[in-house]
Amino acid sequence: YHTLRFLLGDQLNASHSWFHQQDAGVLYLIAELPSETSYVKHHIQKLCAFFLAMEGFAKALQSAGHEVQYLTLDETQDCTINDILTSLANDIGAQKIELQRPDEYRLLTVFKAFVETSELTVSMCDTEHFLLPFDEIPQHFKEKHSVRMEHFYRKMRQRFDILMNEEGQPEGGKWNYDASNRQKLKTDDLSSIPQPLCFQHDIKGLLARLKRHHIVAIGHVGESLSWPITRREAHQLLGYFCDRLLVNFGRFQDAMTSQSEHAWSLYHSRLSFALNCKLISPMQVIQTAIASYRQNDQIDLAQIEGFVRQILGWREYVRGMYWINMPDYHHQNALQANRDLPEYFWTGETKMNCLANAIGQSLEFAYAHHIQRLMITGNFALLTGIEPKQVDEWYLGIYVDAIEWVELPNTRGMSQFADGGWVASKPYAASGRYVQKMSDYCGSCHYKVKDKTGEQACPLNSLYWRFMMKHRDWLAKNPRISMIYGNWDKQSSAQQHAVLERAEWCLTHIESL
Ligand code: FAD
Repeated sequence: YHTLRFLLGDQLNASHSWFHQQDAGVLYLIAELPSETSYVKHHIQKLCAFFLAMEGFAKALQSAGHEVQYLTLDETQDCTINDILTSLANDIGAQKIELQRPDEYRLLTVFKAFVETSELTVSMCDTEHFLLPFDEIPQHFKEKHSVRMEHFYRKMRQRFDILMNEEGQPEGGKWNYDASNRQKLKTDDLSSIPQPLCFQHDIKGLLARLKRHHIVAIGHVGESLSWPITRREAHQLLGYFCDRLLVNFGRFQDAMTSQSEHAWSLYHSRLSFALNCKLISPMQVIQTAIASYRQNDQIDLAQIEGFVRQILGWREYVRGMYWINMPDYHHQNALQANRDLPEYFWTGETKMNCLANAIGQSLEFAYAHHIQRLMITGNFALLTGIEPKQVDEWYLGIYVDAIEWVELPNTRGMSQFADGGWVASKPYAASGRYVQKMSDYCGSCHYKVKDKTGEQACPLNSLYWRFMMKHRDWLAKNPRISMIYGNWDKQSSAQQHAVLERAEWCLTHIESL
């Protein structure tokens, strides 16, 4: 072999130009790396999904006529990436090592050091996955500055001619249909939520291997894994989404319920894992969904625009924000939050029904949808001032789709406002009223959502006002927030005092809420 080409677990892009032709002189290496299992405590389903997808990809490459070596944890134990690459390249007599540029800063640092120190010729190329070329990120994003997603999204719509009419205007005359996408699920809506498409992958051998190597994991897994692990399955999941879910995607995008066995998935695509490990390309997802919209009168523009915005807009945007701000993003803590993450984030055992549901299903499925991540767990961490590092580690570990480039700007930026507003124009802080408006969690909760004070008052209500008062000096300057303080100022000082006292009680007793 003259060349060794290495692929990380999130570089499973079968359309990459590397694979356009077979070359018997090129050996592809895919390896289960001990370092990737331990940089945070991962959900067991996340570990399984990545390793199965990697193994499946290795087999697919082999069937397509490429030379492939797959190393399991049994062969890589106690080895770093550098050791593995150097020793394999020497063994096979390769003079060149080729890599794809990692999407995580941590791995990019490792690879860059390897490029500089290796005695072999090592080069890095693009993963050919994202829509915005990596080199163009500085043209759209500015370090430590707020950049609004909406502005970026419009440029992307124009650039790729997505949902645009012949006059170069957005289809339907508006760029954004977010306002029509905020419905709650009513009782009548619950029975028609489709069953999620789940796959069944045998994981017995893999679980035994993880155990053999003492890999620490969180969460649950049944006898099989339900996530898509091949390109074919990613396409099946996309097809299922277009046929059954897209019709209500935008409408119920922000809704939450505990009253359906499909409450965990609702009308969401669950494509994030397949997208993030690059089994499927973002443009393919967008084009397939748009083709379905064009063929199906039942799907209206608000649904498809809402979906396109997530992928063409948000996904590409957070990647830009990540790279322009790394490594500084890691150290942002604008609200100086320093409390420890409560133990129930690892068990789901809390009397707050909204948190119990969001955490419980995250442990069960390695998945929660966006509003659960942002407005339930994220909001609670924001209001109680949990240290952003701990919040990041939780999100990075628990979700099957969690890779730092997408997790960090969403968590530290959008949900914790630790970047002081690079991503969000205001903190996503909410009282129990929001949870009640968008879900049915409050009905069966131990706490009373209408109460701000008293032993059974929903903790979110007093914590919300404490947060708003603690940060009043700068929050009141924001025109989107200032009017909220009118409500507070109207209350008697005795009432204000009681609310803040209840909030302090909740913080002191945070572990027993
Ligand atoms: P759908 O609701 O079906 O949306 C379709 C696709 O749009 C998703 O698959 C995803 O690729 C993209 N998308 C939607 N919202 C976002 C967003 N805000 N940022 C980037 N892409 C988006 N997403 C991850 O992929 N990995 C993460 O680690 C991650 N961590 C998050 C942490 C927090 C605190 C928050 C608030 C959001 C996070 N998100 C993350 C974004 C979003 O919640 C998930 O992409 C989404 O829930 C995945 O489920 P889905 O595939 O069913 O998405």
